[in-house]
Amino acid sequence: MEKIKQSLERYWGYGDFLPLQREAMHSISSGRDSIVVLPTGGGKSLCYQAPVLSMDGMAVVVSPLISLMKDQVDALVDCGVAAMRLDSSLSGAEQDMVLGRMQEQSIKILYLSPERLLSDGFIDLLGKTKLSYIAIDEAHCVSMWGHDFRPEYRQLGILKQAFGGVTVGAYTATATEQVRKDIAQQLKLIDPLILVGSFDRPNLIYKIEPRKNMIKQVCEVLERHKNQSGVVYCIRRKDVDELCGQLQAKGYRARPYHAGMSDQARRDGQDDFINERVDIIVATIAFGMGIDKSNVRFVIHAGMPKSLENYQQESGRAGRDGLEAHCTMFYSGSDYGVWKSLMRDMPENAQQVAVGKLNSLYRFCTGSVCRHRAILQYFGQSATRDNCQACDVCLGELECVDDALITAQKILSCIIRLDQRFGTAYTGSVLVGSNESRIVENGHNKLSTYGLLKQYEKSVVLDWIEQLVGQGYIEKTGEYNVLGVTQSGWAVLKGKGTVRLLKPAMKAAKKSKVAAASWEGVDEELFEVLRKLRAKIAGEKHLPAYIVFGDAALRDMARRRPSNLEEFLLVSGVGRQKCDKYGEEFVGAILAHSRG
Ligand code: ADP
Repeated sequence: MEKIKQSLERYWGYGDFLPLQREAMHSISSGRDSIVVLPTGGGKSLCYQAPVLSMDGMAVVVSPLISLMKDQVDALVDCGVAAMRLDSSLSGAEQDMVLGRMQEQSIKILYLSPERLLSDGFIDLLGKTKLSYIAIDEAHCVSMWGHDFRPEYRQLGILKQAFGGVTVGAYTATATEQVRKDIAQQLKLIDPLILVGSFDRPNLIYKIEPRKNMIKQVCEVLERHKNQSGVVYCIRRKDVDELCGQLQAKGYRARPYHAGMSDQARRDGQDDFINERVDIIVATIAFGMGIDKSNVRFVIHAGMPKSLENYQQESGRAGRDGLEAHCTMFYSGSDYGVWKSLMRDMPENAQQVAVGKLNSLYRFCTGSVCRHRAILQYFGQSATRDNCQACDVCLGELECVDDALITAQKILSCIIRLDQRFGTAYTGSVLVGSNESRIVENGHNKLSTYGLLKQYEKSVVLDWIEQLVGQGYIEKTGEYNVLGVTQSGWAVLKGKGTVRLLKPAMKAAKKSKVAAASWEGVDEELFEVLRKLRAKIAGEKHLPAYIVFGDAALRDMARRRPSNLEEFLLVSGVGRQKCDKYGEEFVGAILAHSRG
């Protein structure tokens, strides 16, 4: 392990292991099969990249996406590791070159698509090379129970046999116990070591708010993230086009991304984002697979996702570098309706599961439990901290309504007075005492519940109705999402049950300690200077900026302010090759900055 640690320092400039990396690396280097489940940003790639550097032979990494392979190979080469890839995007001559290098035994890490690995004769060819181990990235693709099953992954079971019991490590960010078992079985792993990390992403700061004015709310977040990279997720393609157009008109550097665009247009937008020619991608959930960009500083959900699985995956694209990142969701009852209607044509069983997941997500949005805790609970893990310091609930941005039970009773009895025949907007109007003509015409201005909540703004009352739906006291039924009182709602009317209603806090939110800590001691002006230098170098070398240096390395530079190459090498994220390549320019910029 000492040797592996030295490689970590030498090639990547990291002084220590992240949680479970040591165990994962020990397993693969000592010849034991393993299944490693770590959340996005948990440092899975290093688990299979570092050990081979102190072993004989070549490691093979099987990866499902060409873009991901390319990114990882570029990053490795930039660190001075002899890595190459073989996939269908290479020309015949390029492929021959890689095969030649393979025969010379001068490659340490070879990335392959599963199709290529399984193609005719390739296994024989590989058999002639000294293999140190095989790593299967995104291993959940093996399983039909996972969310991204790929049939060609299923055939990877022949590897153990074909290579005489070679060690196999499987890596994924998402695997339930069922999927884990399936991975072990399908890949024919022998007594695999199973390592499951915590799913908590402490550096993500979650905020979840009712949506009132989408463009205004989105712009408020964007204003806090000037010049930073971020993704804005929308539910539908037309929302993407509309919102992206509005943002562009306001001068934001944004590009759209959805399945209705041409491949070329999507690829161009994605390239512009990765290479930081634009800051923002406005996208449907089609965007994100295979994006390894480590310095996404914010993810906004302009619409509500359909499950916590989706939310975790999409928001998880922020902050892979471990630095603070902001995940803001704007939800609304109408999103709930949109998803429900999209689920209408599903087969009954699948529909039940999907609606169940949607309801859980809705409870999460309208709930008042620490967001980190709620997500962990959903995935069957328990939270270790009382106050995460990184969500709207724990930062005190939400306040509970004092007389929540009475307020809830007023809302519920209004629904009953309306014979459980009207939707959210209408019920809210009656409660705030609106004199809209339809209410007067229906005679609902004479109801005893008319105007019972007239001291509040209608948007607040509408949000309370949604919170009560989320807590299961009200249900929305039929095509028009008519409100009805559930059994537990009736119990509340009789004074039983605990109801919690949130109102937006008037006091300013505390600044998250998570954000403050990662900026501690950082000269922010110098950070900006270094960021520009990074962009310039990345442009010249045709590399994504975050491959040159991650944000964490730049902040450490702006904290330590190294004045020579020896000091530069001490920066976390600076290995020897990067020090030789980029050291002079960065140290020069730091010295120039301190001279003023
Ligand atoms: P995953 O594949 O699990 O999403 P990555 O391998 O992309 O995670 O790693 C996430 C980030 O953490 C990367 O920026 C990576 O360079 C960094 N990282 C990995 N291992 C370490 C370490 N031991 N110390 C510091 N940073 C690390």
